[in-house]
Amino acid sequence: IDQSVQAHHRAPVALSYELFPPRSRAAEEVLWATIRELETTAPDYVSVTYGASGSNHDTALDLVARLQEETLLRPLAHLTCVGDTAAELADIVAELLDHGVRGILALRGDLPKDGSPLPEGSLRYAQDLVELIRRVEQSRSALLCAGKVAIGVAAYPTRHPESPSEAHDVEVLLAKQRSGADFAITQVFFHAHQYEDLLFRARRAGVTIPIIPGVMPLTSIRRVTRLSELSGVAPDPVLLHALETAGSETEAQRIGVKATVELANAALASGAPGLHLYTFNEHRHALDVLDRLNLPRPSRPLHERAALVS
Ligand code: FAD
Repeated sequence: IDQSVQAHHRAPVALSYELFPPRSRAAEEVLWATIRELETTAPDYVSVTYGASGSNHDTALDLVARLQEETLLRPLAHLTCVGDTAAELADIVAELLDHGVRGILALRGDLPKDGSPLPEGSLRYAQDLVELIRRVEQSRSALLCAGKVAIGVAAYPTRHPESPSEAHDVEVLLAKQRSGADFAITQVFFHAHQYEDLLFRARRAGVTIPIIPGVMPLTSIRRVTRLSELSGVAPDPVLLHALETAGSETEAQRIGVKATVELANAALASGAPGLHLYTFNEHRHALDVLDRLNLPRPSRPLHERAALVS
């Protein structure tokens, strides 16, 4: 009872999930089962990742289009800019808008691993992509694109690996806001104070857009380690040890879900306006976390519920 009373008095919390485009037919089936489960929780957005340099351009755009056409979900299309020219990116943005997409997460993408120089004419920073999306949006007739496109950008609770300092990261976030970003989603983090510190630094520097914590279900050592490698964010050694020494898989999952709920609750307590859950295309652990969070969420309108069961 206590929890539901608390939930009632708290402001509604925005909710989004992250998916990646499937790499095989079997993966696609699992993904669609996941999508149907996630749909029942009426998230504000479902985001779809995009390979750097457009490596999965077709499967990413197919998934975004299917979400738009076959579900009640609102897709947030990730788009990376490094390796592509302004003209190429303008075409992709136009393609997304033509599909009815009104949410884009504007990212740079990772630089080529071999250190090779960027191709001639490539955009350099996410900020450049934010500006380009706003230009494409403005160049279209009001009839074709009446709604403003919501543009998200990345934010970093721990220093971006290429950045000289956390202060520089916040300057970059401020620049992305000035260029037209509406909100930010954070990189993974393992300690609640890292998100709270980012909020503090960002607000002090003049960043006013919502900064939504990106939270992964911490249930699998393999995934925690892999994501840490990809993002350059050191995993929490205490959590890793607890997962490694758990007596069974069920016990590890219980520990992981509990740790994730604590992290998410702490972020909400420090002022997070929403949560972005990394799902790895599986619903179970994301929904376990969501259940235990008992978030104040608007209930799904009746006509949408009817559409879901029909
Ligand atoms: P930027 O904001 O451009 O920053 C990149 C680096 O350049 C930083 O070190 C920054 O300090 C510096 N910088 C930026 N602007 C300037 C400037 N004006 N002057 C000087 N320095 C500057 N990657 C993918 O490939 N596909 C995805 O779908 C994807 N989804 C993601 C989702 C989220 C929520 C997050 C947090 C990351 C995601 N990434 C994805 C990873 C992302 O592409 C990398 O973290 C990348 O290294 C940086 O992207 P960015 O958009 O933050 O770049």
